[in-house]
Amino acid sequence: MSFSASIITLFPELFPGPLGASVLGRGMADGLWSLEAIQLRDIATDRHRTVDDTPSGGGAGMVLKPDILARAIDTVSPAGDARPRILMSPRGKPLTQSRARELALGPGAVIVCGRFEGVDQRVIDGRGLEEISIGDYVLAGGEVAAMVLLEAVVRLIPGVLGGADSHADESFENGLLEYPQYTRPQNFEGAEIPPVLTSGDHGKIARWRAEQSLALTAKRRPDLLPPQKS
Ligand code: SAH
Repeated sequence: MSFSASIITLFPELFPGPLGASVLGRGMADGLWSLEAIQLRDIATDRHRTVDDTPSGGGAGMVLKPDILARAIDTVSPAGDARPRILMSPRGKPLTQSRARELALGPGAVIVCGRFEGVDQRVIDGRGLEEISIGDYVLAGGEVAAMVLLEAVVRLIPGVLGGADSHADESFENGLLEYPQYTRPQNFEGAEIPPVLTSGDHGKIARWRAEQSLALTAKRRPDLLPPQKS
C-alpha cells in the first residue's frame, strides 16, 4: 500500500504543480505515492455551486460552508479511512520535520485547503481536522501550504529519495541545522574548500561537521538546542 494524498480545494488545477517535478514526480510515476485533487465546488448542489457564505457575527470576507466541506471530506474519506485529516491553517500547530516523518510512514493524508477567511469551526470539530501551519504569516489560500507539507512528507517516503542515509545529516533530523556543504572547484573566487573535507580522514570530517552544526545552530537557532543547565 502506498501513500495516498487527497486534496480538497477550489483550485485543483494547481496540483501536482511542483510535486510532479524531479524525484517526487518520479516517485509518483513509480507508484510510491499518489495524489488526487478534488474540486470543492463539484460537491455543491445548488445552481450557483455555492461553497461560501458571509461570516456569522459580521466582518469582512467569506467563510467556507460546513455542509459542503463535510460532504467533500466524507466523499473522499469514508468511514474506515485511516488517513489523518488535515486543515492547512495559520492557527495550526507549526509543521515540523518529525510530523512530516510520521506522515511519510503512514497511509497518506486528506488535506483541506482553506480560502477566504477560512472554514466554519463546526467542520473542524466535527470531522476532527488537525490544523497545521507552515509558518507565522498569512497566505491567500491553503494550496501552497499543502504543497509545502506534501513536499516535506513525500521526499521522506521510503524509496522516493533513494539512499536510506540521505536524510540522516539533514537540518532538523538530529535537532540541529546542517553543516556547510562544498563541492569542486577547489578554489572558488579565492575561497578554498576547508582542508579537513579533502583530508580523507572520515573521523575528523565527522567531528568537524558536528562542530559546525552545533555552532551554526547556537548562532542562528538557539531555540533548537536543549535548555542549558546552570
Ligand atoms: N482569516 C484566517 C486566515 C485565512 S487565509 C486567519 O486569520 O487565521 C486563507 C486560507 O489560507 C486559510 O484557511 C488556510 O487554509 C490558508 N493559510 C493561510 N496562511 C497559512 C499558513 N501560514 N499555514 C497554512 N495555511 C495557511
